[in-house]
Amino acid sequence: MNLILLGAPGAGKGTQGALLVERLGLRKVSTGDLLREAVRKGTELGQKAQSYMDAGDLVPDEVILGLIREVLEETDTGIIFDGFPRTLVQAEALGPLMKDAGRSLDAVVVLAVPDEELVKRISGRRSCPSCNAVYNVYFDPPEEEGVCDNCGAELVQRPDDNAETVRRRLEVYRAQTEPLIAFYEKSPVPVLTIDGSQEVDAIADDIVQALEQTAV
Ligand code: AMP
Repeated sequence: MNLILLGAPGAGKGTQGALLVERLGLRKVSTGDLLREAVRKGTELGQKAQSYMDAGDLVPDEVILGLIREVLEETDTGIIFDGFPRTLVQAEALGPLMKDAGRSLDAVVVLAVPDEELVKRISGRRSCPSCNAVYNVYFDPPEEEGVCDNCGAELVQRPDDNAETVRRRLEVYRAQTEPLIAFYEKSPVPVLTIDGSQEVDAIADDIVQALEQTAV
């Protein structure tokens, strides 16, 4: 099974992606996580991406598509894409890339969350730089403050989770990524819209149920 998780920053793509990995045995591919890792390691890719990320803008399509080509080459399980595709160019390129890799897209899961909730969630978000686990100081705190439950690393706030950059990321989402919902609604791939404002486990239940009902 190959899925796309679509939704605004803070909609819960990372959290739900991690739960679906456990429940469905897929690999989660987060372009944001791959880019942050490249920035941390100071690779050529990271150097290209950092200024866009800091500003809340999108990294150029050809850089992202290069990353996705590599991922498709080295992955043999089903994939959950988290944060990709984010532009029409990326969405249009994904079809042929999947076909070349002998894969097809089974569903697009849209996580719908009201704007005021998004901002609250992002301001409380803390993540683990080591294993990419995501917490929220208000809704889903780690057992020990500031420490990752999974691997014990010190949690950090993402540099692009500040108020100004978040505003820009939401604008970019509305302008460049939200139109992908209409793009996929016109395609044969089922689009499953899920109420992303519920409790974490209830959202995951709804996603799994919607996938079963669509016979994916
Ligand atoms: P995320 O962790 O998905 O919120 O991504 C963090 C940042 O990485 C975004 O604000 C973009 O700057 C960049 N990014 C992640 N995925 C993509 C993508 N598919 N296309 C362009 N830029 C991306």
